[in-house]
Amino acid sequence: MKLIFLGAPGAGKGTHATKVKADYALPHISTGDIFRANLKEGTPLGLKAKGYMDKGELVPDELVIDLVKDRLTWPDCQNGYILDGFPRTIKQAEALDSFQDIDAVINLVLDDETIIRRVSGRRMCSCGATYNVELLGGKTTCEKCGKELYQREDDKGDTVRTRLEVYNRDTAPLIAYYRNKNLLTDIDCNGKSIDEVYQAICNELDKI
Ligand SMILES: [Zn+2]
Repeated sequence: MKLIFLGAPGAGKGTHATKVKADYALPHISTGDIFRANLKEGTPLGLKAKGYMDKGELVPDELVIDLVKDRLTWPDCQNGYILDGFPRTIKQAEALDSFQDIDAVINLVLDDETIIRRVSGRRMCSCGATYNVELLGGKTTCEKCGKELYQREDDKGDTVRTRLEVYNRDTAPLIAYYRNKNLLTDIDCNGKSIDEVYQAICNELDKI
């Protein structure tokens, strides 16, 4: 099963991709992980990407596409994969179509206001634990290690709003692109629990 997951930051994409990865035995592939792996191994593609990053430039589309194309030839992708964060542009989507047949695009749909509340309520600990301020009952320290919790700069109200606007603007053409190809499934996450959303995703995947 070759899947693409779309969803705004805070819509639960990571949570559900992790569950699908475990239940359907598919690798969860994000461009960030591909970059890190190639940089760590010092592959030719990784070194090329590093050249741009060291100069503070964006890694060009062609190189991102080459990195993904290479990653999808690894043995763990034999039975499919979950792509997360790629494609980001129509150019990338068209390139992907030229070498892969995608089975489904899962689009997690959640109201902007809910996303903003959720993300701006997120609190982190340096040990990796994350919390939601609404469930902390006024506590400001980590239950696991006792350290003081903090809020990421890009989780703060105005920044979340901007990130969300950028996401909606950039993703709208992709949504239209995959809807035209009859590959897109909207999963309505509004007012649903994580389990209910996950069940809806599984129902779709089981049709493939
Ligand atoms: Zn902690």
